[in-house]
Amino acid sequence: MTPGIHPESKARSDRAFVTLATNPDYATGAEALFRSLRRTGTTADLVLLYTDLPAETVYRLCTLGVRAVHVDLLPTSHDFNELHGRARLHGAAPFTKGEKPPFHTPLDNFAKLRLWQLDYDRVVFIDADAIVLQNIDRLFEYPEFSAAPNVYESLGDFHRLNSGVFTARPSQATFDRMLARLDQPGTFWRRTDQTFLETYFPNWHGLPVFDNMLQYVWLNLPELWRWQDIRVLHYQYEKPWENHAKADSLRVLIDLWKAHAADGPVPDPRDLPAPEPA
Ligand code: UDP
Ligand code: MN
Repeated sequence: MTPGIHPESKARSDRAFVTLATNPDYATGAEALFRSLRRTGTTADLVLLYTDLPAETVYRLCTLGVRAVHVDLLPTSHDFNELHGRARLHGAAPFTKGEKPPFHTPLDNFAKLRLWQLDYDRVVFIDADAIVLQNIDRLFEYPEFSAAPNVYESLGDFHRLNSGVFTARPSQATFDRMLARLDQPGTFWRRTDQTFLETYFPNWHGLPVFDNMLQYVWLNLPELWRWQDIRVLHYQYEKPWENHAKADSLRVLIDLWKAHAADGPVPDPRDLPAPEPA
């Protein structure tokens, strides 16, 4: 029995797409993500890491064939938890580019690292606020650690990775080393797991931006947008299931998310309109 993780069923494959939901809002996102992944025809396991969810929510996801794995938040120190609390983090490192929803708890992000404790050879992690538009099983062939750049505004964005999609090789030894590195006196990870992973894997391998296309590209870099190229669409900042200030300008993307979240047919992205030129 691995401490901190509590699988309720067995693995069916040696590969898995994994997401995290620590509250019902992100479970709403996870359901749309899993439905979209199913539509790609993948045979890899679909795994939900969760902390606090109503039993009926977990049950509904299981009926979609998802493997639910209850996890504990990381056993980080009191000081670490204080420093990475929502109000404290937003004060020390304000978000100036977009709005974080009220249900976003920065400390919960670190629970992603639990995937290194899973019983799979290869894992692709995807944020719960993303949908997959084309088969991405090839990502399992990429080495640890591969991620796409955090591109949504300008060329400078290529310096940083976005931790919404990444490849990993689970290993308890790696997990233990990460935990030791994560929580040292006074350490502050301003963009939580993203800053940590970038530091832990300084030689991270790059994935094409199309494997983690950020919704703000639609607004800020429309020349990069080609529907036929986009494999993962990631709704960073404002979420497609909330009412928010940018909803009108992101309407095409939000409607696509809603189609994926439901049971019925989904549009072919190639039939969708292009973004307005900048
Ligand atoms: N997450 C979660 N609960 C939280 C915050 C984050 O479950 O309170 C998970 C969820 O999978 C989410 C991911 O961590 O997609 C990262 O957060 P988010 O996607 O909101 O960050 P962004 O992509 O906007 O930077
Ligand atoms: Mn995200």
